[in-house]
Amino acid sequence: MTRLMRAARMHDVGQPMVIEELPVPEVRPTDVLVKVAACGIVPNLGNVLANWTKWFPNLPLPKLPAIFGLDATGVIEAVGSQVHAWNPGDRVYVNPARYCGGCRACRSGNTTSCPYFTFNGYFGFSERSQKMFDDYPYGGLCEYMTAPQYSLVKLPSNLSFESAARFGYLGTGYRALRRAGVGPGSTVLINGISGTLGLGTALYALGLGARKILGTGRNLDLLQRVKNLAPDRIEVHQLGSDMTADVWAKGLTDGLGVDAVIDALGPGAPQSSMLEALAGLRRGGQQVNIGAVAGDVPIDLHYLMDNDIQLTGSVWFTAGQGQEMADMVEAGVVDLSVFEHHRYRLADINVALAGIENRDGGFSNFVICP
Ligand SMILES: [Zn+2]
Repeated sequence: MTRLMRAARMHDVGQPMVIEELPVPEVRPTDVLVKVAACGIVPNLGNVLANWTKWFPNLPLPKLPAIFGLDATGVIEAVGSQVHAWNPGDRVYVNPARYCGGCRACRSGNTTSCPYFTFNGYFGFSERSQKMFDDYPYGGLCEYMTAPQYSLVKLPSNLSFESAARFGYLGTGYRALRRAGVGPGSTVLINGISGTLGLGTALYALGLGARKILGTGRNLDLLQRVKNLAPDRIEVHQLGSDMTADVWAKGLTDGLGVDAVIDALGPGAPQSSMLEALAGLRRGGQQVNIGAVAGDVPIDLHYLMDNDIQLTGSVWFTAGQGQEMADMVEAGVVDLSVFEHHRYRLADINVALAGIENRDGGFSNFVICP
């Protein structure tokens, strides 16, 4: 008899999800079957479901109906015949980054550059992504999902399923910090530090040993809560105040500027905030954009050249980097206990999506526990 599971599926863009019964998937040779314990709901999911096809027609959704859900955690229930490093019972995070495994980029280990790169249960980056959606049609908003063995992160016993369901945005910040070379001795400015993306970036900057973490944001109460995480190492600044962020940052760094800027501003943020942060970099500094400032931004390229400055984008993170992040939690150098979990049943997925508007910046963590 076919075993059935519950899954939340969207049948039409912008329509509420429907809870349906579907067969539990069969595990294929290089995949594992994960019994989902928690799936993170990122603030942007509502946009992806309702607005993505209008805003970013170049970033396609999976063919509908589809099971969404980006950041799943759970327990391995079965492994394929060619899976040797994982066992039933292992607690895992499933990195939703999918890639083909066969192209030149994948074979050289640079899987983020794969032309098939796709966010499982979320959206893709080209028309090639439908191939990945066909291979992996299960996002995290269901009871059982298949996942390639390459996507897994082993969770230590001191890392909860709910906290690990935050790994997507945490990992996006972590990869940006690594790209900017942040480590002991670094000064780093996080633009938008109190949001979902910025707070996670700050937690991992602390763990990587950054000497000074400067953060900007709009909400003074949230900024103070961020500063309280490490009052000796974190300084905060309200955007839109009399002093611009570059003057403020240079005032805290002997007039030199910061080593790195991670831009984690949310949708609708003015480009002036990004440009102020750029002006707060020291000579030879690096700015990595992972935020949502969109469209044309006027940048003086001569200034970048004269000051030997790098400005780059960064997308997501690898399973290997996710393992480093889990290891840092296991070792106690990163503390994720600041998150306030808001748990919802799968049947209440539409309520959860509506409720995420009322969050305490990055401190709130919305998860579905099927
Ligand atoms: Zn590839």
